[in-house]
Amino acid sequence: MTDPLQPCVHCGFCLPACPTYLATGDESDSPRGRIVLMRALERHELGPEDAALVQHLDACLGCRGCEPVCPSGVAYGRGLEAARERLFQARGLPPLPRAVLGVFRRESLWRPLFTAARAFRATGMAKAMCGSGRLGFGMGMLAASGASLPGEQVPRSSRDGAGTGATVALFRGCVMDTLFRHVHDATRRTLEYNGYRVLEVEGQTCCGALHEHGGDRGAAVELARRNVAALAGSADYVVTNSAGCGALLKDYGHLLGDEEAAALAAKVRDVSELLAEAGPRPGAPLELDVAYDAPCHLQHAQRVHEAPLAVLRAIPGLRLSLLPGFDRCCGSAGIYSVLNPGMARAVLAAKIETIAAAEPRPSVVATGNPGCLMQIGAGLLAAGLDIPVAHPVELLDRSYRG
Ligand code: SF4
Ligand code: SF4
Repeated sequence: MTDPLQPCVHCGFCLPACPTYLATGDESDSPRGRIVLMRALERHELGPEDAALVQHLDACLGCRGCEPVCPSGVAYGRGLEAARERLFQARGLPPLPRAVLGVFRRESLWRPLFTAARAFRATGMAKAMCGSGRLGFGMGMLAASGASLPGEQVPRSSRDGAGTGATVALFRGCVMDTLFRHVHDATRRTLEYNGYRVLEVEGQTCCGALHEHGGDRGAAVELARRNVAALAGSADYVVTNSAGCGALLKDYGHLLGDEEAAALAAKVRDVSELLAEAGPRPGAPLELDVAYDAPCHLQHAQRVHEAPLAVLRAIPGLRLSLLPGFDRCCGSAGIYSVLNPGMARAVLAAKIETIAAAEPRPSVVATGNPGCLMQIGAGLLAAGLDIPVAHPVELLDRSYRG
């Protein structure tokens, strides 16, 4: 394979697009600086025991905001993937990420854990305990995962759309299948209303993206193989409502290196892509000021820009805005916000300030990824801003139910 970092000419165009460089001003926290470090690691000029190298690579969000602005076409994400795999093979993982990724590897662990968290969230205590300290922010993330839209009602059953439509297997995932079941429900209803036939497929598990980001390719491959076995041949499309899962599902061909995985990957769509392809059908008016924030793994990794905006524009009366930096990482980045809370919060601060300063103040922030929903939601709660964060399909579903 050709070196994905080789085309770098060190021009520095990527620096202003990098949230960690903007937060620290340190060249080693920039894409250009990290490329120098990654190439030194590859050439054995620096070893995996080099503390500064590890620190600066660990501090990378993997948001890939540096890719679209690069005039030389450097495949930064592929380079980072290889560097993290090298570090993992040489050193394994420190105890905290090892424990967290171990949970996501076993459904017998993550399902009861997140199901209990959902029950705790329902008591209202998570919202009552939210704040800006480490525990308070964690509680804010949990509370934000169940945020209700203004004037939320009890859902009615879905109305079937016109036409026979294609079949769609819903990718359930782990966090989405426990803390964000309401988004799965909205996904199913909005797709059905737009003429798709949504199928439930057994035997799926976590997509493996968190393991792949951490360099644990073996665990990512194991999880991906289970998903391919469960989903291959199941439907015309595999749909996901999590940008992070979608980015890896679409890359299963590369990860597993076989034709069955590549065929499945070619069928994967973000829910906004399928809805935009179908129209989507307009719903009832929603008089809301909605600010859209683009998840990095939808915008930069999947290169899906317009589809979520088409979903929101199908809602009459909804006033849509793109705030400055809407395409910049919020600091969530999978389990990054748990492992690097200081940098994650520094990156988030800019986004919260932009939302707070917006005129008019948004009544809802919309974004299509669980980590972003929780991170931005917790940031708004910690700042005392009563602005719910919702998935775009939740808003479309609400419009259809109106
Ligand atoms: S990654 Fe691209 S934009 Fe950044 S320094 Fe290298 S060539 Fe320039
Ligand atoms: S992936 Fe994101 S955090 Fe990492 S170097 Fe690129 S822009 Fe910066």
